[in-house]
Amino acid sequence: MRWGLHPRGPGAAALAAARNLWVPPRLRCRPGWQGTTGRLLVRSVTGASNQLQSSNNGRYRDTVLLPQTSFPMKLLGQQQPDTELEIQQKCGFSELYSWQRERKAKTEFCLHDGPPYANGDPHVGHALNKVIKIREIFLGPLELPVTAVANILNHLLCGVDLETGTCAHPLTPHKDSPLLPANHVTMTKGTGLVHTAPAHGMEDYSVASQHNLPTDCLVDEDGVFTDVAGPELQNKSVLEEGTDVVIKMLQASKHLLKEEKLVHSYPYDWRTKKPVVIRASKQWFVNITDIKATAKELLKKVKFIPGSALNAMVETMDRRPYWCISRQRVWGVPIPVFHHKTKDEFLINSQTTEHIIKLVEQHGSDVWWTLPPEQLLPEEVLSQVGGPDALEYAPGQDILDIWFDSGTSWSCVLPADLYLEGKDQLGGWFQSSLLTSVAARKKAPFKTVVVHGFTLGEKGEKMSKSLGNVIDPDVVINGGQDPNKEPPYGADVLRWWVAESNVFTEVTISPSVLNAARDDISKLRNTLRFLLGNIAGFNPETDSVPVNDMYVIDQYMLHLLQDLANKITDAYKQYDFGKVVRLLRAFYTRELSSFYFSIIKDRLYCENADDPKRRSCQTALAETLDVVVRSVAPILPHLAEEVFQHIPYAKEPKSVFRTGWIRTSSIWKKPGLEEAIESTCAMRDSFLGSIPGKNAAEYKVTLVIEPGLLFEIIEMLQAEETSSTSQLNELMMASQTTLLSQEPRSTTTDVIERKGTFLINLEGGDIREESSYKVIVTPTTKEKCPRCWKYTAESPDALCPRCSEVVSGK
Ligand SMILES: [Zn+2]
Repeated sequence: MRWGLHPRGPGAAALAAARNLWVPPRLRCRPGWQGTTGRLLVRSVTGASNQLQSSNNGRYRDTVLLPQTSFPMKLLGQQQPDTELEIQQKCGFSELYSWQRERKAKTEFCLHDGPPYANGDPHVGHALNKVIKIREIFLGPLELPVTAVANILNHLLCGVDLETGTCAHPLTPHKDSPLLPANHVTMTKGTGLVHTAPAHGMEDYSVASQHNLPTDCLVDEDGVFTDVAGPELQNKSVLEEGTDVVIKMLQASKHLLKEEKLVHSYPYDWRTKKPVVIRASKQWFVNITDIKATAKELLKKVKFIPGSALNAMVETMDRRPYWCISRQRVWGVPIPVFHHKTKDEFLINSQTTEHIIKLVEQHGSDVWWTLPPEQLLPEEVLSQVGGPDALEYAPGQDILDIWFDSGTSWSCVLPADLYLEGKDQLGGWFQSSLLTSVAARKKAPFKTVVVHGFTLGEKGEKMSKSLGNVIDPDVVINGGQDPNKEPPYGADVLRWWVAESNVFTEVTISPSVLNAARDDISKLRNTLRFLLGNIAGFNPETDSVPVNDMYVIDQYMLHLLQDLANKITDAYKQYDFGKVVRLLRAFYTRELSSFYFSIIKDRLYCENADDPKRRSCQTALAETLDVVVRSVAPILPHLAEEVFQHIPYAKEPKSVFRTGWIRTSSIWKKPGLEEAIESTCAMRDSFLGSIPGKNAAEYKVTLVIEPGLLFEIIEMLQAEETSSTSQLNELMMASQTTLLSQEPRSTTTDVIERKGTFLINLEGGDIREESSYKVIVTPTTKEKCPRCWKYTAESPDALCPRCSEVVSGK
């Protein structure tokens, strides 16, 4: 016996031949049928078997097959993180990586994790936003006295060619300063004349370089005036008493016309929260102009997610003319340059570098600081380069920028499929990796770059350690001091929240979003529990029903399942975890819980355990469980494993992660089924809508469909004119369903009628036929069966025909 599509009447033979594709008999069979989707309307209904699970205490309780599983419905409070830990240990999470490496899969996937120094330069980048004019740096932080010298000059020089003019220095006699044009100076702020200090800011420095002005620096590394500044200022801090002295000197020379305090922006160090003095210093730079062109060309072959990140990266790169690779720190990788002790000369070439590389390989990079100069620069090396005595040179004290260190990490991990970091790395690690890789081997170090935004607080505020509003992931997982305020959510909730968020923009985190994630998982948990409970006693190897022999609604679920699996696999490939969450959530709430589960309960609970009708359903449930568990496993590994451990027929439930990705079959794909299920659901909605709040099982329904495509399709779900056990009646959830192609001759007065039309749309719209239907609803005359609670019994105490057959067979 098969429960597929059973045609009768006109065109039956042709329909039977084409049953797998649902090709209408009058038309030529063509592959690639496309049904339309998205028309499925589902109402929550109170069906007879929906109540069975909770309240069947009657004498037939032992004859119904209620779900059986030890999988818990809920994990409360501390149980959540505790269970996760248990699963991690039981299923060997920590061994999964090495297990995977040993398997020598055909294709390896390399995610290069980095950068090693995650919290340095990006914050300096923020400080750079606040870099302001040199004159302000020189005159002090936040509250500064302003001289009106520039204003006066402006008036005096009005009408004069400013570009050839000079200004007298207010404190140093006979020192004239030229007036120069510069693009960064505008009339929108102040007079349009600004003081320029070439040693104390990028813009000033570049103006001075263009005009070959000296880069005199009167401030030393401690922020104190040097002797060049004169005896009154020497050894005075520029930001503190140095400022007071400058004002006094201007007063004494009668150049100070007005003094007032003004609040303005000023660069501060993000770590110490202290004002910064910008000073010119000698550094090592990489000229990236040439590398840039090649890098841009190579970036075209790199996949950026989101796509806009490519432009952002190119723009960041375009803004950078040089890359300063030297730093003055006490710890780091030394730059192997030798400085002449008396002359302004240095020594570095391939011979000296190769020698240093050998030493570092043997003894580590500390040799630079520990070995005497004659060993760092031995005679044989010096003679090669025609150099003088090693003792004339001293090893340089600069170290390499940490971004140079981390930017060359690709040399150890190539080829990397993926780099994935926050958007701050567009100008950081992504770029330093790209530039070093392009310079060294004319290749990009990554195939794909995924860029994410930052985490913000509930109100969209930035999170930072110093503000104290950083949410600690450990508190989210294990709970805080007060479990009422900070409950233990477990790792899965945190992971679901991350996956769900649009990580390519800024992401907010708060108790409400975490609670929403927890609720989602709780619903999923119940769905999975239903699946587990109803495959008890089912063995896929011996009990599975072939797809084409399954109930239409079960086949339809497999059809939806393969579609879901394809979409989820694609979304994972695109790193679009938000889409995975949305697809899964829609599937388990709408398709499964609200729709499919409510229809199949009678078949699952009330038929014989090994009845093919029930096995058909269990086959679909087992496949559904498998696809859902694998789909969710990357995001909710603990829940997936917990479910996997409870699958009754799993042979070696070591770990779901050792059993491969989703498996679906192409024969599940049957787009024509959508028309059958969706048209039935449309009529069911008419039926249910006509009896709001009532139990559908207490009504019998008559469907009158005009002869045509719709009738032929619906006819396959019910062979008899009237049935309480057909596939059609199962979907309608009524006491019984009658299918007619003509209006019934006589109707009673106690009827509700609803009319509607349904557009059958097949082969991508090539076949379109609209049919009208009428739904006639009347209260049933049957009695409630004490076993299945369907209104299919002849008298109040008697079992319905189906149930008496099942019970007597036991
Ligand atoms: Zn019954």
